[in-house]
Order: sequence, then structure tokens, then C-alpha cells
Amino acid sequence: MMAELMRGKPVADAIYADLAQRVEALRARGAHPRLALVRVGGSDADAAYLRSIVAQAEKVGVKVGAHELPADASRLAVEAIIEGMNVDRAVHGCMLFRPLPKGMGELELCNMLAPEKDVDGVGARSLAGVFMGEREGFAPCTAQACVEMLDCYGVDLAGKHAVVVGRSLVVGKPAAMLMLARNATVTLCHSGTADLPALMRAADIVVCATGRARAFGAECFSAGQVVLDVGTNTDADGVFCGDVDFAAVEPIVGAITPVPGGMGAVTTAVLLAHVVEAAERRA
Ligand code: NDP
Repeated sequence: MMAELMRGKPVADAIYADLAQRVEALRARGAHPRLALVRVGGSDADAAYLRSIVAQAEKVGVKVGAHELPADASRLAVEAIIEGMNVDRAVHGCMLFRPLPKGMGELELCNMLAPEKDVDGVGARSLAGVFMGEREGFAPCTAQACVEMLDCYGVDLAGKHAVVVGRSLVVGKPAAMLMLARNATVTLCHSGTADLPALMRAADIVVCATGRARAFGAECFSAGQVVLDVGTNTDADGVFCGDVDFAAVEPIVGAITPVPGGMGAVTTAVLLAHVVEAAERRA
């Protein structure tokens, strides 16, 4: 039997349709949602992500301004940009492309962002909000995209056993907290987890966020499971792939996100939804 393919585009499209209406309503009140992007040096992948954010934002009427600095920019220059954005009334959301160049003090810079503009959920106050159920900042977009994906495909989390593989602050930990808040029972796994395949096989929902190309094969999955593959990797042959060995796992499970074509589109949509929400909170 074939698994249901949980593609990201329909989920993102539904989010964008809702956003377009909300942006209209904001405009009628004289508010024009604006996102500021800050990139210091950075990879081709970042440049592509930036272009896709700009293209999608245009479609829903969110304005985007990009600050692109060379890799050898000073920390003070980045601080000055963040401070400027924090006080700029025209800017509703800010996103720093990470990783920033080594030695720049990424953590401190993330924490400088005003929480009400921290639409990518990188600051301590945003993360505290994820753990405490408060809304001062925003949840990290990919973690929230996991829940949006499940909602859109009608997967109810309540009472389910979710196994999250990966415990980064960007994806694994906040995804676990958001799923817990939806009454899933969550097991959070990492590189030191004993007998990971057995834990994964026992889950109803599996989230893979490790950055290991096709590391999770048939031995980790069982019939009927819902699998979210967050990984964005390139294998030894330069092929873009997820953390899950899709060809081996798709015939086993009930539903799975493809890579590419899965979580990425939803993550971008959640980012723009946060910008619109930031503008609504202020208006
Ligand atoms: P990190 O490298 O920060 O974290 C990886 C996590 O996976 C760590 O907790 C690590 O464990 C764990 N891990 C690594 N190898 C294994 C293993 N063999 N078994 C079990 N756990 C393991 O990565 P990120 O969380 O930032 O990103 C994860 C993936 O998600 C990457 O591929 C990234 O590109 C992708 N990503 C995709 C996005 C999207 O929009 N689709 C957005 C953000 C990220 P430990 O803590 O013990 O080291």
C-alpha cells in the first residue's frame, strides 16, 4: 500500500489564502505588514530561501526589506541594524539568517531582537513563550510548521504518541513542546538515545529533524504511522533529500512528507503568518 503524501504546497496555499484576507483588513486600517531580513555573508541555500520568502511575501502583500552584509561585517554593524529595526514602526517582523559568521555572538544578537518582532522565534523570550504557552514572541517557524502540517491533513495529536528525533532549539525541542501543548505524549530523542528504531516504531507520529541524509530506514517505522521529515540534506551524490529513506519507508507508513515538497513550503508560510500576526497585534 502507498502512503498518503503530505505535500507542503496545499498547506502553504491555505495559509496564504487566509493571510491575503488578513493583510487586506490591515491595509484598510492603514497598517502594511513588513518583514526585515538580515543576512551576513551566507550560503547559496540562504540566498534561495531569501528569494522564496520575497516571492511569497509579494503574493500575499507583505513587504520585505533585505539587509545584506558581507561575511566580514562587524558585530557592531549588525547590532546597529537590529536596533534600528527594533524601533522602526514600519517594521513588524525581523529575521536573521543563521548561522551568523563565527565569533559574531549569534545568541546575544538573537536576544537583541524585540520579542514582538521575533517572527522566526530565535530569542530567549520567544522560546520561553513556547514552553510557557505565552505569546510575547513567536514559535520557531519549522516547529510550528509541523503542527500546521498535521492540522491540515486532519491528524489529531490528542492522545497520540509522538516521537521527535532531534533536540535543537530550532526544530526538535520546540516541536516537542508544541505537540505536547496539543495533548500528544511526546518522546524527544537525540544522538544518545538507546534503541532509537524501537522507540520510533512504537510511535503514532514521527518527526525526523537530525540533518542526517536518509538515516532512518524501514527498520525505524511501522504500518499506519504519520511521518514528518524535516531534514534538508544533500547526499554524497549531491541529491537533495530528507532524513528518512523515503523509497524504503513510504511503502510501510500511513502518511509521509516528501523532501523536497514537504515541510519547507509550510515553514515559509508560517514565517509570513507570524509577520501578519505581529502587525495585527500592534494594530
Ligand atoms: P541540529 O544539527 O542543530 O540538530 C540535530 C539534532 O539531531 C541534534 O539534537 C542531534 O542530537 C540529533 N541527531 C543527529 N544525528 C542523530 C542520529 N543519528 N540519531 C538521533 N538523533 C540524531 O539540526 P537542526 O535541528 O537545525 O536541523 C535538523 C534538520 O532540519 C537539518 O537537516 C536542517 O537542514 C533541517 N531544517 C529544515 C527546515 C525546513 O524548513 N524544512 C528548517 C530548519 C532546519 P544531539 O543533540 O545529541 O547532537
